[in-house]
Amino acid sequence: MPKPSYLALAKNGELSRRADALFDHLKDCDLCPRLCRVDRTAGERGFCGVGDKVMVSSFGPHPGEEPELVGRHGSGTIFFTSCNLLCVFCQNYDISHLRRGKEQSCEALAVSMMRLQGLGCHNINLVTPTHFAPQIVRAIDIAAKAGLDLPIVYNCGGYERVEILRMLDGIIDIYMPDIKFSDHAAAEKYMHAEDYPDVVKMALSEMHRQVGDLKVDDRGIATRGLLIRHLVMPGGLAGSSEFARFIADEISKNTYVNVMAQYRPEYRARDYPELMRLDIPEQYLAAKQAFEAFGVRWQPR
Ligand code: SF4
Repeated sequence: MPKPSYLALAKNGELSRRADALFDHLKDCDLCPRLCRVDRTAGERGFCGVGDKVMVSSFGPHPGEEPELVGRHGSGTIFFTSCNLLCVFCQNYDISHLRRGKEQSCEALAVSMMRLQGLGCHNINLVTPTHFAPQIVRAIDIAAKAGLDLPIVYNCGGYERVEILRMLDGIIDIYMPDIKFSDHAAAEKYMHAEDYPDVVKMALSEMHRQVGDLKVDDRGIATRGLLIRHLVMPGGLAGSSEFARFIADEISKNTYVNVMAQYRPEYRARDYPELMRLDIPEQYLAAKQAFEAFGVRWQPR
């Protein structure tokens, strides 16, 4: 199995320099497209509501991710507290909106990564990492010097700045963004992110530039590449056809897209009658057909 490229960056000092540069962004926070411009090192808070200490809700081997991440021993999942999207229907709202979790040091986060490796996990799966990118890169640097050599999975909502993603080039092995809404009005209504459809497309292009299509080893375990999750929403709100067209035309027809049918109305969804519709099975079939019609069909390599 090829070694993750962050090992060379840890060895030559580049990982430490990248962490330093990312930490500088906390002083006038522009880590994500919200561009809150708050000084998180001085106790100010932006949209995500967290400061300069990383916050973790839980970590452990996860059997419920994609088979290419789970393998025999699970995906080494670390759930970070809060989120830079805060969808009104969030299924993990206790972690995101209610910010359940504890502050910890970058050293402690590195220890968690090493424990996941010790448990036999096939990767380190960073769930909702965007607002903690500096602390995560610092922890990867510490862990790499202590023997971490698992692929790093960046499991995000897709609301990412290309400028920040470029600073993660060579550190992240597997990008796993969600693609949620291709319509601006829907993105504004349910995520307060009117620019999401444009932002996520630029982010997908940069992620694919860095890591390419998903590759697996001879056990079928993912080693590098782009893996997209598309959560089907009631009433066709997700805009699946437009995402299928974009991915086929501008990313790659060999993109791994996991069309997901597990939507359930949580948190404030009941305030939006259209989010309470029970037509997910029909919408799921329509979304699958849209990706097939545009020829998006991943073949493992
Ligand atoms: S990471 Fe948080 S504080 Fe920084 S720009 Fe994004 S939402 Fe705002």
